[in-house]
Amino acid sequence: MLDDIFSSEKAIQLWLVLFLASVLVGGIVTGFFKARKIQPKGFKWKVFRNEGIFGMVNLAVSAFLIGAPTAWLTSNGYIATTKGAADWWTIAFEYALYFFLFDTWFYWLHRAMHQGRFYTYVHKLHHLSTSPNLLTTLSVNPLESLINGGFVPLFLVAMTFIAPISEQSMALITPTNIIMGLYVHSGYEFFPRWWNKSWATKWFITTTFHDQHHKYFTANFGGYTTIWDRLCGTMRPKFEQDYLKVKDRARPAPALEPAE
Ligand SMILES: [Zn+2]
Ligand SMILES: [Zn+2]
Repeated sequence: MLDDIFSSEKAIQLWLVLFLASVLVGGIVTGFFKARKIQPKGFKWKVFRNEGIFGMVNLAVSAFLIGAPTAWLTSNGYIATTKGAADWWTIAFEYALYFFLFDTWFYWLHRAMHQGRFYTYVHKLHHLSTSPNLLTTLSVNPLESLINGGFVPLFLVAMTFIAPISEQSMALITPTNIIMGLYVHSGYEFFPRWWNKSWATKWFITTTFHDQHHKYFTANFGGYTTIWDRLCGTMRPKFEQDYLKVKDRARPAPALEPAE
């Protein structure tokens, strides 16, 4: 039994699970997570319950709305990938192309979804959550999931005709939306204090950036990056100031000066 655990492939999986579990427990016990909560008083059970219900409905409907056409396009040759090992720069280029094109698609459609009936009938449901958590990611009208998630099959069809992407890039692209969604809705800020000050990093979205979109509605429309918001002046003016406030809570209290 012990030999099996320590010598087989299961050992890696077991240690990974134990490592993640200890990080989680350690983070809770030491208050690491609590200090990084963006909206400490934002959680409401009723909203959380609704997110669970909307999330399940959305998953079932949008899996069909996006999954069925994608399967049809693939089986009829409209979505094809190159097989075999690809160069790392090919994968990097294809992934970067997807990343920036999706970000552009998301930003402009998201801004449009904040207008009139488009907001009422499509996007409003997602904004019932004013303090996001992981479940908020799924709590989206299936029509909105179709608009956002539909980009992936459209991109893959276009690339099939222009220059088919490698199956390795495909494996990275497919889970990106859900991973980025969970990341920006996590409700916790884990990035360092200097993130938005450095020219090299400030373009990449942080959780606080999208969290503020849920709290204030009128700014920070980007999904993967802050580029379009910075270019178009739609970034919340107090975003960086409030980001620092969140980070200040995670700092150790300064030692008191000894009284003279
Ligand atoms: Zn919105
Ligand atoms: Zn959101």
